[in-house]
Amino acid sequence: MANVKFYTGEQIPLEMHKVRIIQRLNLPNVDERLEAITQAGNNTFLLSTEHVFLDMLTDSGVNAMSDRQQAAMFLADDAYAGSQTFFRLSKKIKEIFGTEHFLPAHQGRACENLISRTFVKQGDIVPMNYHFTTTKAHITEMGGDVVELLCPEGLEVTSDDPFKGNMDIPALQSFMEEKGDKVPFIRMEAGTNLIGGQPFSLENLEQVRDICRQYGVPLVLDASLLADNLYFIKVREEQCKYLSIREITRRIADACDLIYFSARKLGCARGGGICTNNEEYYRLMRPLVPLFEGFLTYGGMSVREMEALTVGLEETMDEEMINQGPLYIEHMVDKLVEAGIPVITPGGGLGCHVDALKFCDHLTQEEYPAGALAVAMYLASGCRGMERGTMSEQRRPDGSEVLSNMELLRLALPRRVFTLSQVKYAVDRLTWLYENRQLIGGLRFTEEPEVLRFFYGRLEPTSDWQQALVAKFKADFGDSL
Ligand SMILES: *Cc1c(COP(=O)(O)O)cnc(C)c1O
Repeated sequence: MANVKFYTGEQIPLEMHKVRIIQRLNLPNVDERLEAITQAGNNTFLLSTEHVFLDMLTDSGVNAMSDRQQAAMFLADDAYAGSQTFFRLSKKIKEIFGTEHFLPAHQGRACENLISRTFVKQGDIVPMNYHFTTTKAHITEMGGDVVELLCPEGLEVTSDDPFKGNMDIPALQSFMEEKGDKVPFIRMEAGTNLIGGQPFSLENLEQVRDICRQYGVPLVLDASLLADNLYFIKVREEQCKYLSIREITRRIADACDLIYFSARKLGCARGGGICTNNEEYYRLMRPLVPLFEGFLTYGGMSVREMEALTVGLEETMDEEMINQGPLYIEHMVDKLVEAGIPVITPGGGLGCHVDALKFCDHLTQEEYPAGALAVAMYLASGCRGMERGTMSEQRRPDGSEVLSNMELLRLALPRRVFTLSQVKYAVDRLTWLYENRQLIGGLRFTEEPEVLRFFYGRLEPTSDWQQALVAKFKADFGDSL
């Protein structure tokens, strides 16, 4: 995105790329949408894309690749062991993060599996700014637990705090004093996913590093959403104004003992990996790669994706590349705020996060307001978002619900995928939905998996509210889609 002034004074994000390959989309009518979401058990994860108009489920594995990434895929070196593709990727990672060792894995959660198996044992507690669903699942799988020490501003829906993903430093300090002996590592998540793609500051990360040094525990960075976080540090953190993206990346990497990432997000490809300068950690984790992922020079990734990742990581060092997501999101957030729709501010990375607790303030958290809003948004628009609230939590062993801190409908804007008119359409339909929000009812599970239930659990509406919403849609839009 370029900083171009419009003569009219209008401010819109202007792309520094052009579209060269397109994919035809289908917009089912509202009756077909009701049929599709019912078939999908009222879970947007279970929709088939043939029934989805704008897929705002996630940015995972669906960011648009550049021509250079696609070109690089043709030059991949297919080899089970010792592939040149792997050496090119490790070299790029070393150049960017300054890390000697790289363990490839098939995606982000695979890295979490390797790290948790190596470091977490029964009774351990991992402090973090905030959890991610798969991170927590892998740590608890090993008998550990997570404690979130997010700064208090992080959970305020409306805010102008630039770094809502920061760790609460005094809270971390006192936690370590009390329970430091149970802590295998401290985890920081860049572009904190579940609280609206909110960044941490470099200053905060370096303070966390100091505490890690003081207590002799490693600092682990989840760099899956690093691209957005880098951009926010560059534009929001005074002390980093004159640093290049490359320099900021190196400062971040230097503070951490282990860096892992999902390349489904970082680098606009598919895959993942763990980087470190610590020989001992590398040796501890290494045997798990051939066991769970694949040989050490591919780790479950396709060589083509690895080539695309190598180029994607280099492109992540380009500010005009990584600002596309955040600037589009900021634009969408501004339009929603203008329409009076409750949404997380300031805009973060990854997508636009609608506050379902406020949007559906007539529903209780046990009725899954964010899940219900995701279903209602699909009915109103054919846009598929993702529930990030109580449904994404796991019940306690006694069967009681863990009520999420936030109830969010996340409308992800995968990088370089949508046009401004499509964003405008989503805002329009959400505005209609907000005016008819009283019609939205709750959901309850009919099939509830024990682990990560949001992925494939099935639900039903608690009343016939969906029919009422569809009837109102037809009354307002006539035969229109
Ligand atoms: C997506 C994500 C992961 C998991 O990565 P996958 O590639 O989906 O397994 C872990 N952490 C964060 C912050 C993520 O956004």
